[in-house]
Amino acid sequence: MDVQTSLLDPKKVHPGVGTGTLWHPCRGEKLVSLSPIDSQPLGTVQKALAADYEGAAHKAQEAFHQWRKVPAPNRGEIVRQIGNAIRDRKQELARWISLEVGKITSEAEGEVQEMIDICDFAVGQSRMLYGLSMHSERPGHRMYEQWHPLGPIGVITAFNFPVAVWSWNAMIALIAGDTVIWKPSSKAALTALAVMKAIAPVLKANTVPEGVLNLVIGDRDAVGERLLGDTRLPLISATGSVAMGRHVGQVVSTRLGRTLLELGGNNAVIVTPSADLHLSVRAILFGAVGTAGQRCTTLRRVIVHQDIRDALTDALIRAYRQVVVGNPMEPGVLMGPLIDRQAVHQMQAALTALKAQGGRILYGGEVLSDGSYAAGTYVRPCIAEATHQCPVVHQETFAPIVYLETYQTIEEAIALQNSVPQGLSSAIFTNDLTESELFLSAMGSDCGIANVNIGTSGAEIGGAFGGEKETGGGRESGSDAWKAYMRRQTTTINWSKGLPLAQDIRFALDDSEG
Ligand code: NAD
Repeated sequence: MDVQTSLLDPKKVHPGVGTGTLWHPCRGEKLVSLSPIDSQPLGTVQKALAADYEGAAHKAQEAFHQWRKVPAPNRGEIVRQIGNAIRDRKQELARWISLEVGKITSEAEGEVQEMIDICDFAVGQSRMLYGLSMHSERPGHRMYEQWHPLGPIGVITAFNFPVAVWSWNAMIALIAGDTVIWKPSSKAALTALAVMKAIAPVLKANTVPEGVLNLVIGDRDAVGERLLGDTRLPLISATGSVAMGRHVGQVVSTRLGRTLLELGGNNAVIVTPSADLHLSVRAILFGAVGTAGQRCTTLRRVIVHQDIRDALTDALIRAYRQVVVGNPMEPGVLMGPLIDRQAVHQMQAALTALKAQGGRILYGGEVLSDGSYAAGTYVRPCIAEATHQCPVVHQETFAPIVYLETYQTIEEAIALQNSVPQGLSSAIFTNDLTESELFLSAMGSDCGIANVNIGTSGAEIGGAFGGEKETGGGRESGSDAWKAYMRRQTTTINWSKGLPLAQDIRFALDDSEG
């Protein structure tokens, strides 16, 4: 694979710890990143060991004491410049995403665009870290709340959004006055390095203290567990599987730290008899096949009214037949490889389980292995028929499988939609106002995201992103998600000459007794 890049020299062994503009030699083993496109090596990173992590954590803590003093709008100005640096490198960063995790070019560029968008959002937010003021019940008193920087923040990211998720956290944390230690997925280490290299000139030009933005690439035991147990980090934001999140939640809660968990989804659309079928098919196709079924918001279940089941299935199979699977950087390709052979194996295991549980494959699902597919990471996207009783439908298989289930009443459809342990994204396709309003009501979807006549994936950064139940309950990115990265302080100021107590409590000394 020809890796042309000005950000990273593919022939060099890159240190796995960076503290902004400086890179620190590490003592761990070498990590060779292989492209899922053709299994060829893309570059090498020397992984961090515990002592290397410690160096970065120490820097992050020291830098926090400097960074919190910088006025928030000035922090926002740095973020504005970071956004511009990413803009300038958009194609090159997208290329790293395609090479290392296999996204098609337009989706890889879309991921970089998300980073740019969150920078723009954070710049505005840096002037809007508002606290409320309250009316005190005590005369001559003023009461209000203010938001202070929280501290160094740990950010753990998944392979499938190797850089956007970091930016959702890091750019908001930066304007909040926090410093960041980023532990990326080892499956996307080079993309993380490339981003840090792209923004380093901004940090240098603005003499941002070393340690404000840190990257630590290393294994679970040496780096991951250390980060979770580090009492210097008041908040750990972790994106990944439910199993990982459950562990992170337990470890961080034993030290009474805070977590922001963004975990797996099992997202559904309900297609009703009044739905625009053409619109539904396009949304289902993008939701289920986009990013090769490897998004947390990927569509995994279609709950379709029995009267339109056949029409929808036929239209879907016709659409799936047009999906070109192949090298994600070639024009016309709509679906690239899965991240690795293990992911292909997990997809096949899910399909075997589905058949044993009474389900049926309606289209695709096979492994492609000839010629340009020799890496063993390519599959044909799959449409399967299932019932709610199939256990496999209740789990997230991180691959392009969509299960079709049928329903008779809208109440039954909503109950099916809500009956899985995860609660990230959901959608309904309908032109019936009573159905869409029911879906959006307290009796409707139990997910963090509920859409009408658009699919489950492709959220915008302006809204708070995240989900309920096993998805972890975290919210990040837009709306008021910034509050998770700050410390709230309630303040009361007495400008009177007396000391009236709240709740009308009398606690006066008898002055006459001297
Ligand atoms: P994963 O759980 O295997 O790994 C995620 C990250 O957690 C990686 O950086 C990994 O190294 C780290 N990790 C694992 N164990 C750890 C430990 N003990 N201590 C510290 N760090 C640890 O997930 P993945 O395969 O990279 O990504 C796919 C999963 O992520 C899917 O379940 C997907 O739904 C989920 N995801 C969720 C969101 C969301 O916003 N809800 C976004 C993207 C991905």
